[in-house]
Amino acid sequence: MKETIDNPDLDFDRLHIWHPYSTMLSPPPVWPVTAAGGSRLTLADGRELVDGMSSWWSVIHGYNHPRLNRAAHEQIDAFAHVMFGGLTHNPAIELARRLVAITPEPLDKVFISDSGSVAVEVAIKMAVQYWHARNRPEKHRLLTIRGGYHGDTFAAMSVCDPVTGMHEIFTHVLAKQFFAPRPECRFGEPWDPADIQRLAGLLAENHGRIAALILEPVVQGAGGMWFYSPEYLKQARALCDAHEVLLIADEIATGFGRTGRLFACEHAGIAPDILCLGKAMTGGYLSLAATLTSSHIAETISAGGPGCFMHGPTFMGNPLACRVACESIDLLLESPWRERIASIEEKLRSGLAPCREFAAVKEVRVLGAIGVVELHEEPDHRALQRKLVDKLVWIRPFSRLVYIMPAYNINPVDLGFLIEKMVEAVGEL
Ligand SMILES: *Cc1c(COP(=O)(O)O)cnc(C)c1O
Repeated sequence: MKETIDNPDLDFDRLHIWHPYSTMLSPPPVWPVTAAGGSRLTLADGRELVDGMSSWWSVIHGYNHPRLNRAAHEQIDAFAHVMFGGLTHNPAIELARRLVAITPEPLDKVFISDSGSVAVEVAIKMAVQYWHARNRPEKHRLLTIRGGYHGDTFAAMSVCDPVTGMHEIFTHVLAKQFFAPRPECRFGEPWDPADIQRLAGLLAENHGRIAALILEPVVQGAGGMWFYSPEYLKQARALCDAHEVLLIADEIATGFGRTGRLFACEHAGIAPDILCLGKAMTGGYLSLAATLTSSHIAETISAGGPGCFMHGPTFMGNPLACRVACESIDLLLESPWRERIASIEEKLRSGLAPCREFAAVKEVRVLGAIGVVELHEEPDHRALQRKLVDKLVWIRPFSRLVYIMPAYNINPVDLGFLIEKMVEAVGEL
């Protein structure tokens, strides 16, 4: 067993295993990991990489954290899983208690599912069932903004950016939704009322057919790493209220502190009607997500047609994942996370600034513990990825973006190294 762990069979991997958004014809290289701790990944050849990705927003406390490990072991020794139909358990109850306490009012009803995409499906289903229960079944479509990413399942995909989400391939499968332009007013810059006019127009004209507006508050993640004005969000909230349209905030990427606030909605001081959480919820240990809504919406749905909410995954409320999520949330709230993220933000701002001088660079932007370098053109991804690994950092560029979002407790030396190597690699493009 030891041998296969230390010498992963990469030929088998190439021949038989899909990786995310990958190809089975000449697949790009993958690097075998044999250990991970703190902000370091150990490769099978013994090299240690400093991790800049937090495994896609999720590993906020670093890898192999003693408290998360202990929580997982304790829960496994008790029971790893039981079905959630007709049964319940402390890990789910305690997780829901924490989520209700830390998310904006009036969100107090929690649906626990197994991945971000499913949390989005559940949110959409809630919105549709809500209007159905109110005898407005014609309000079943969604409004969103371009540049978004909400997951890879079909309803989630229907509200992803139509271009990067490849809607043309799935034209006949995806539900047709309404799209407003991406907000152009940047985070921290003066507000321009013209920015929301298209969204306002779409709502005024089509609110009779729209169940909900869904968006990623303040930070659009996988759709382009774009930071927009909280004022847009504030006004979108007001427009939704005026036109009887629900607001779904997808905080699967932004939740649990990443933008400098516990939830990105707090930048605008608003509460959504439905909130999606995932990614960092278990500190990156296990796949888990949640969809929260208000008592009003939950009770309206429950009083409607089928007399229940129509969703129930096999691994709903998985005790092991819920137990680790409780520990991860406690760990976060007990830590000086605000100061840590402010300090990472400052280092990203000063450290990435030199990239602005490079011809290949279009823009550098930083918010919270997210640092983004946008290039003018798509780089040769395979070459750039290899170069970054050779420089002993794990950074995974996509499209025209090279970005990092380290663990909140990354040590200053590792963070400095990460930034230095990122700047070096971009400078060599
Ligand atoms: C990652 C992500 C999702 C999808 O989550 P999965 O766990 O990958 O299904 C949805 N919305 C946003 C904003 C995300 O960043």
